[in-house]
Amino acid sequence: MERKEFFGEFGGTFVPENLKAVLDDVAVNFYKYIDEPEFKEELAYYHRQYTGRPNPLYFAEKLTNKLGGAKIYLKREDLNHTGAHKINNTIGQVLLAKRMGKKRIIAETGAGQHGVATATVCAMFGMECIIYMGEIDTERQALNVYRMKLLGAKVVPVTMGTRTLKDAVDAALMDFIENADNTYYLLGSAVGPHPYPIMVREFQSIIGIEARKQILEQEGRLPDYLVACVGGGSNAIGLFHPFVEDKEVKIVGVEPAGRGLDTLDHAASITLGSPGVIHGFRCLTLQDETGEPLPVYSVAAGLDYPGVGPEHSHYSETGRGEYTSVTDKDALDAFVELSRVEGIIPALESAHAVAHVMKLAKELDDEKIIIVNLSGRGDKDVEQVKGILGDSI
Ligand SMILES: *Cc1c(COP(=O)(O)O)cnc(C)c1O
Repeated sequence: MERKEFFGEFGGTFVPENLKAVLDDVAVNFYKYIDEPEFKEELAYYHRQYTGRPNPLYFAEKLTNKLGGAKIYLKREDLNHTGAHKINNTIGQVLLAKRMGKKRIIAETGAGQHGVATATVCAMFGMECIIYMGEIDTERQALNVYRMKLLGAKVVPVTMGTRTLKDAVDAALMDFIENADNTYYLLGSAVGPHPYPIMVREFQSIIGIEARKQILEQEGRLPDYLVACVGGGSNAIGLFHPFVEDKEVKIVGVEPAGRGLDTLDHAASITLGSPGVIHGFRCLTLQDETGEPLPVYSVAAGLDYPGVGPEHSHYSETGRGEYTSVTDKDALDAFVELSRVEGIIPALESAHAVAHVMKLAKELDDEKIIIVNLSGRGDKDVEQVKGILGDSI
């Protein structure tokens, strides 16, 4: 695989020298192993035997008929072990760490979902696992903290700064620099300094590779639209990337508009952001006048990141991708609708993509095909939704 650090003007490695050396070592090993047949075979083995891949590309016939427009297919990442796409990346990176001779895995987590996916693979591969989490997030996400502990991980509450994700990232990076000889930093989305955006894309591309094969088998042609929610952008780039050269396939990323784009409570980094450097890479980001990331919000905890992957930033600028947004309210409506019509409770993150598809499908004729990435299942969100919607459903 060819080394790729920049996507247009986005990406790069904007970090101190001592960290750059450590990241270079990760990059060298990633490019070395990713093309190795044994590495690929081992990854494929765990996907079959542990993750449960390939998962179905499900024709949502009831939803399609109800909306009366384009055919809607759901890529069922919600059926993976641990209930979301994140495991695709954590298995890939833990295998790389093993090849590099590392015994200790560190990660940061905000909502806790990446922490759980990391703790899961560390348990399975017998690795020591340390998860940095802002102290406030450990209180908000107490159940995920307990899950990580159950899986044998050590959760370190970070008490610096705002005590949220940003500070957890800083703590993890400091640990990485100090302990690089035995430690691997397992990053959770297609963001951060090189090589993480391309590495996470590579491990998540299994989504699009399978979907491409499946739609050709099931429909005999490529889809007209691909739709996925965008937090950092890993499930979306995983679906999109294997179709990027197929110019007739439109790609649509859906950002969280929270309480509305005219409020401060959203995380629409592409829609309303501007170019800047955060967490060691250049992307479209929501920042204040001094370049500090702004506070972000979404009803879906997995989507509230103030930046977005460099490749999405690039596709937005070049027009290869279209990026839109969906409010909390519309995502909650889609959460209920998919549950009722298809018997599938989606993650609140994924419900953003479903909400957009519910608008889009109606505008298209019944010859058109849409694939939407169902990035995760909604069991984790039921209690939260009960608190918001209560008996009104
Ligand atoms: C974490 C998460 C997301 C957002 O992350 P991306 O990197 O943008 O994919 C989306 N859906 C689910 C279910 C998640 O857990």
